[in-house]
Amino acid sequence: MAIADADDFLPEALQFRPSAPLVDIGANLTHESFGRDLEAVIQRARAAQVTTMIVTGTDLTHAEQAVALAKQYPGLYATAGVHPHDASRWDKNLERDMAALHAMPEVVAVGECGLDFNRNFSTPQEQERAFEAQLALAVESGLPLFLHERDAGQRMREILHVWRDDISHAVVHCFTADRDTLFGYLDLDLHIGLTGWICDERRGHHLRPLVSDIPLELLMVETDCPYLLPRNLPAKLKGRRHEPALLPWIVREIAQWQGISEAELGAATTQTAQRFFRLPTES
Ligand SMILES: [Zn+2]
Repeated sequence: MAIADADDFLPEALQFRPSAPLVDIGANLTHESFGRDLEAVIQRARAAQVTTMIVTGTDLTHAEQAVALAKQYPGLYATAGVHPHDASRWDKNLERDMAALHAMPEVVAVGECGLDFNRNFSTPQEQERAFEAQLALAVESGLPLFLHERDAGQRMREILHVWRDDISHAVVHCFTADRDTLFGYLDLDLHIGLTGWICDERRGHHLRPLVSDIPLELLMVETDCPYLLPRNLPAKLKGRRHEPALLPWIVREIAQWQGISEAELGAATTQTAQRFFRLPTES
């Protein structure tokens, strides 16, 4: 049954298979919308050559669930952090629990953590406190960071400038900001994660001319599913849920703006992700 579902779900126009395996560095597979058919979602991802998925852990519960998925499915790995929206919940107990998760072999990054001054579900002060505490955990564990930033590029750069020599690598996931912010991040030698935001004619097209400014060895790709379904898909999907099997479509779009082939972009971003998250390279 799962296999039939896996075959039926994607319209033909979206069933294409890249030549090289891809890594989706931001998949929120613990989201409740995947609760019923995760098996089929992962099968479709593999059929689309998305062989590795980094499952985002945005709070303690979701990070524990991400680790459980990583234990269950080969090719899945987890991050463990507290999203800026939940920063007000940061305390010593949470810090201890997070540190324990970071010691697990399935956890490949600290995060998602960072600053989000767009909605301020937690106050900026609470966000900075939780963020700096997680930067310290990244230093302790030696793990790379999976960063979230929205409308907080200036402050993010100031904080990272202070910590830069002590942390290892860091990726600003789902980059959506402007050219100055991008160059500030590149000056700090940060990695950049691009999503289907770039396919959004209402708010994402400013990213297109910036893509070629991102060095290939610092660029990675992600769906951020179930959020951010690309708005320019060539066929309609049942429901509005985004999933890892659609990553090749995003790679196709980004490759066009990088001025290289899909195959080259796919291979380069995979190599970068394997290095960044220290993944086993046989596959
Ligand atoms: Zn995010």
